[in-house]
Formats: sequence, structure tokens, C-alpha cells
Amino acid sequence: MNAPGQPPDAGSFEDIRASVRALCQAFPGEYWRGLDAERAYPAAFVKALTEAGFLAALIPEDYGGSGLPLAAAAAILEEIHASGCNGAACHAQMYTMGTILRHGSDAQKARYLPDIARGALRLQAFGVTEPTSGTDTLSLRTTAVRQGDRYVVNGQKIWTSRIEHSDLMLLLARTAPRDKAKKRTEGLSVFIVDLREGASHGISIRPIKTMMNHATTEVFFDDLSVPAENLIGAEGQGFRYILAGMNAERILIAAECIGDAKWFIDKASSYAKERVLFDRPIGQNQGVQFPIARAYAQMRAAELMVARAAALYDAGENCGAEANMAKLLAADASWAAADMCVQTHGGFGFAEEFDVERKFRENRLYQVAPISTNLVLSYLAEHVLGLPRSY
Ligand SMILES: Cc1cc2nc3c(=O)[nH]c(=O)nc-3n(C[C@H](O)[C@H](O)[C@H](O)COP(=O)(O)OP(=O)(O)OC[C@H]3O[C@@H](n4cnc5c(N)ncnc54)[C@H](O)[C@@H]3O)c2cc1C
Repeated sequence: MNAPGQPPDAGSFEDIRASVRALCQAFPGEYWRGLDAERAYPAAFVKALTEAGFLAALIPEDYGGSGLPLAAAAAILEEIHASGCNGAACHAQMYTMGTILRHGSDAQKARYLPDIARGALRLQAFGVTEPTSGTDTLSLRTTAVRQGDRYVVNGQKIWTSRIEHSDLMLLLARTAPRDKAKKRTEGLSVFIVDLREGASHGISIRPIKTMMNHATTEVFFDDLSVPAENLIGAEGQGFRYILAGMNAERILIAAECIGDAKWFIDKASSYAKERVLFDRPIGQNQGVQFPIARAYAQMRAAELMVARAAALYDAGENCGAEANMAKLLAADASWAAADMCVQTHGGFGFAEEFDVERKFRENRLYQVAPISTNLVLSYLAEHVLGLPRSY
């Protein structure tokens, strides 16, 4: 959103944004409300995005994608959210494929990336979090034990989103006991798990019903057999590979938050102009105007950090601090805008048909996932400010 009369921001991919907005018009509030009530997956929306090539934005042209920079992918997700839609149903494909791209073998890239780019294969699932280890990823317990030309996987993941709507999953599992690993960050490995082969033997999935419509699950592995050729990169180095993808994930999620904030601000501004009480629009009262204006300022500041983080990422520079700050500031700005939007709508903020309560529920997630606010602050304290390590 540019303030009235202002040109689009430099490098804002205006053509791509306009195409995404046009696509999203076919998926209005009623569509999302219906899915929300049924807790159903937005299959038609994901299909439309796939067919339009948006989910292949980051895949290099050599593999059939568009080879766009991360800033373009961020623009796509921002517009999806600013249009009132939700990218959570498919955003993972944008960043999970980066692990194959950066660390996969030539054979793995040739085997998977072109099919992902043309929408024949879905790589939507990412199995990292476990019930007992949570944020403490290095304590995860799912094991992958080499037996000849295969690995045998046993254990459990939680919050594995979209696995029921995916053909492939990236799985982080322990290949060396924690006390046998040379370094604390070694001993974990990343695998491509083919869910089409494995679904019937060795994997069971239990959906988790959450406060918003998010196809997330618990996944149990019982002697799941994974071909050794599906190991990505070197055995034991998986944590490093996953970490490398997290900056991209944080920047893209931050862009979704900016989109949400724009949606809330737009919705609140429109309502404040239309709703007449005491013979004047409620938006004529400064008590109603100021929270909207504050949310706008907060969003614009966060947007600058998202753009800065994406620019550093695209230039191949270290962007750990900026990616974390972008995620923190954008999640805070969108949550503040969500709260403001409910307040501006008064009682109607709670009514389903206004979509505000749905977006409010959906946006709450970003304070916790994919990384919680505390963990971002802890990163900044330790790695940027040099404060003593807390955990
Ligand atoms: C809807 C949803 C979808 C998700 N999708 C996926 C997915 O697809 N794949 C996947 O792998 N994971 C997924 N996650 C998991 C998500 O990344 C985690 O929920 C998140 O990282 C937090 O971990 P946790 O829930 O285990 O919380 P915990 O690690 O148990 O933490 C609980 C609270 O304690 C705080 N805390 C913990 N340690 C510290 C510390 N040292 N200092 C200060 N505060 C601390 C945290 O900030 C948090 O607020 C999803 C989660 C949700 C809710």
C-alpha cells in the first residue's frame, strides 16, 4: 500500500503484484470463510497460484522456474495477504526447495526441481519441530539409521503442516547420537521423504485442530525406509543446511505479516469512513484515527526492514540480523494492526462475515511460528549485541 498520490516503492515488482492481486480477486472473503468453517485446505487457490507460476518464483530458470530474487517472492506473499488471502497453505514450497537447490546433488535437483516448478510435485511439508524438543532443535530425537542403501527412520514430529497436501517432505533427523557428534550442531541430517511411496508404510499422520484453519499435523515414523540417495548433502550437516534456509523463511513470513497489516489498515480505514455514529463517521474522531495512523507508521517502518533483509539476501550478504528483525517488527506491526482493526469495528470485529476475526486468528501465529519472538530477541541479544549466551 502506498499512501495516496505516492508512486510505488522502488524495486517493488509492481507487475507481479498486480498479477497476484488479480488472481486473488477470484478468492474473496466468502471462499476463505467457507474453508475456515470446514477446516478445509484451499486446494483451488493453491492450484491457481501453481498454474500461474508464482510458487516456482525462486526456482532457477534452468530448472523451469522463474529465477526471481527473494524480494519478488516476498512481494507475491505480501500481496496474497494484503488481498485477504492466506499464503500459509503453500508458502513453504518457496523456501523448502532452497535446501535442495543449495545443498542437493545435481541428480536430486534434476529429479525434483523441474517437477516442482511445473506443479507436478508438491514440496510443501517440512518436518523439524518435535513435541519434546520444540524450539531446542538440537535436542530432537527422531533417528535415521543407515542400513545398507537405506535409512530407517523412527520417531515423531509435531506441527508438520501441509503434509496431507504434499508429495514430498524435507525431514530433519538424527543420524549420530548427540554425545557422539563431533560438534553440538552436527549429527543431524536432512532427507527428502517421498510421501507417495511412504504414506502406507512407516508414516502415520494425525491432524491437529488449531484456532485457525491451518493444515497442521502430528507425524509418527515407525521403521520408515528412506533410500540413501535421498540424503541431502553430507550426513551430519543437516542443521547447518536448515539454518541456511531460515533467513529466507523469516523474510518471506515477514512479508506476509506486512500484507496482513496492510489488509487490516485498509479494512479499518474503510470502515471508519463508512460507519456513522453521532451524525459523523467514526473515523472523524481522533480517538479512532490515531490507532489507524499509528498502525500505518509501524507497518511502513517494518516494511523497510523486510526490504533491507531481502536486498541483503539477494546480494548474497549475511542477513541474519536483518531477517530476524524483519520477522520481529513485521509480526509486531501486523498484530498491532489486527488488534486496532478489531477495535475499530467494535462488535462487528467479532462477526465472521467481516473476515476481521478470521484474519486476527490467522495473524496471531506469527508471534510464535516459524520462530517465536523470544528466540529472535535472544538472537539479537547474543549475536548482534554480544550479550552472554542464555541457553
Ligand atoms: C500452526 C503451526 C504450524 C507450524 N508448522 C510447522 C511446520 O510445518 N514444520 C515445523 O517443523 N514446525 C512447525 N511449527 C512449529 C513452530 O516452528 C514452533 O511452534 C515454534 O518454533 C515454537 O516451538 P514450540 O511450539 O515447541 O514452543 P516451545 O519451544 O515449547 O516454546 C514455548 C515458549 O517458550 C519460549 N521459550 C523457549 N525457550 C526459550 C528461551 N531459551 N528463552 C526465552 N523463551 C523461550 C518460546 O519463545 C515460546 O514462547 C508450526 C507451529 C504451529 C503452531
